[in-house]
Amino acid sequence: MSTPANNTPILVQKYGGTSVATADHIRRVAKRVAVEKRKGKAVVVVVSAMGKTTDELISLSRELSGQPARREMDMLLHAGEIISASLLAIALEEEGERAVSLTGSQAGMITDDTHMQARIEEVEGERILGHLTSGRVVVITGFQGVSRENEITTLGRGGSDTSAVAFAVGIGARQCEILTDVDGVYTADPRIVENPRKMSWCSYDEMLEMASLGARVLHSRSVEIARKFGVELIVSSSTEEMPGTLVCSSEKGRKEFGEMEEVLIRGVAHNADVAKVSLLGVPDQPGIAGSVFETLGTHSVNILLIVQAESHEGHNDISFLVSSEMLGQVREDLEALADKIGASKLLVDEGVGTVSVVGEGVQRESGIAGRMFSSLAREEINIDLISTSNLMISCVVAEDSLEQAVQAIHREFLE
Ligand code: ADP
Ligand code: ASP
Ligand code: MG
Repeated sequence: MSTPANNTPILVQKYGGTSVATADHIRRVAKRVAVEKRKGKAVVVVVSAMGKTTDELISLSRELSGQPARREMDMLLHAGEIISASLLAIALEEEGERAVSLTGSQAGMITDDTHMQARIEEVEGERILGHLTSGRVVVITGFQGVSRENEITTLGRGGSDTSAVAFAVGIGARQCEILTDVDGVYTADPRIVENPRKMSWCSYDEMLEMASLGARVLHSRSVEIARKFGVELIVSSSTEEMPGTLVCSSEKGRKEFGEMEEVLIRGVAHNADVAKVSLLGVPDQPGIAGSVFETLGTHSVNILLIVQAESHEGHNDISFLVSSEMLGQVREDLEALADKIGASKLLVDEGVGTVSVVGEGVQRESGIAGRMFSSLAREEINIDLISTSNLMISCVVAEDSLEQAVQAIHREFLE
């Protein structure tokens, strides 16, 4: 955890949109960063766009086009982070610290060429390390990179967390601090559940499930990269100095926090931004499912859950979930596909959401599923689809009962 030149410890911090929403917020962040710098650390700060900038830029584009080109959306959206990064560098200079802001491209973030959902291929850390060695705070735009063809790319909504962890890996830091508008990872979204508990730690695997199932406090790909390269994440408040949540290996977590008993359920996650697609009356023949999901694959669409019902009279029904954001891109293709494979009907339902429990107990203890489903039944919430793995159970329910579902399941397992 040191720069090659002078053995200075490296600190990588990421500040989210709410934490840099106004000039005052940015000044506060600059003061906090300056304190760390004066402790003798080499500091890299990754920032998101100010407040709701990204949403506002998307709305502007919608005023002009129903389906803007993805390349142009990347050109547009990456500007948001440039504003916050340069303003933070200006504020740091005002605090008496030398600072430089860099775009993802300037900082060496190389991605593939999938606009709006780019995957990181490599981080060339030399330029960052050079600035650190010369004593500057390096402020980098989150959420974006550049392809080998020199096209600007973005990593998908919420992607600044992933940028921060990738930069931490690229410069050899062992930890990455994610500073946000909550003071840690809770057993459920604190905006929905009244008495959530802050986790002192969470394993990479559990956090990855929580994030993939909708706990947006961390972008799931940031957890994937952290796990792969053994970088520890510290999620804490951007405004108050208090211990947050450590995301680390389960061995380290158990040892450090002295957890004797295994925790059954670590948390409840929910996701309202999904749509259910059903292809009804599909001929029960080999190759059909393959062609459906290959079509979706060509659009880089993530499928969140797939259910194929038992076949009846040579036909079956295939249902799956996609993120609402992706639906627009695949809708036309789905209609063509439904015709091609001879499905009797294509249904798209945007009024659904998923509620999930995550924890090692799902695999170890019998009865978790029963308790989860009964707690929904007591609230008269109907379960539409169910999916399980050894770390989670996920139910699709009507979106308007989603918050009630989260509260009921949290009461059952965590209160
Ligand atoms: P940032 O702009 O800093 O990236 P986000 O809005 O992306 O912040 O993520 C923080 C939000 O994540 C919180 O305000 C909270 O509502 C939400 N959240 C969802 N699930 C959880 C959870 N289990 N623990 C903490 N926060 C959660
Ligand atoms: N600004 C981007 C977004 O709003 C990236 C991020 O905040 O992480 O999605
Ligand atoms: Mg975020």
